Amino acid sequence: MTDQYLQAIQKRVCSRCIDTDEKGNCMLHYDEICAVEEFLPEIVQAIQRVQSDKVEDYVVELRNLVCTQCKHQDEDGICVVRNNLDCGLDRYFPLIIEAIESVDASRRSA
Ligand code: SF4
Ligand code: SF4
Repeated sequence: MTDQYLQAIQKRVCSRCIDTDEKGNCMLHYDEICAVEEFLPEIVQAIQRVQSDKVEDYVVELRNLVCTQCKHQDEDGICVVRNNLDCGLDRYFPLIIEAIESVDASRRSA
């Protein structure tokens, strides 16, 4: 199941990400891991907890389940990576929600 989520994210999100090379490969893999890959199970869990048309509702769960575990967020809840728009997970979160929910919707209709 995780593979399906990852594939959906790669198709919808990574294909548009500014951190890919000209062939569409993620450039972060060489020296660091994108939070999308590092926390995929937690991201899926956060999104599945919410049913809302407001992205802010999903962001609350993302901060609770993922950002609190991430080394980049400090004890005051501040993330310099996020503030610099350098977190692919945060930057493309609306697309990531769409990707996860599309996998779940196609599973329900199968
Ligand atoms: S940085 Fe993250 S969102 Fe961007 S291509 Fe790499 S894995 Fe995908
Ligand atoms: S926004 Fe910051 S704390 Fe949250 S996953 Fe991205 S880098 Fe980590």
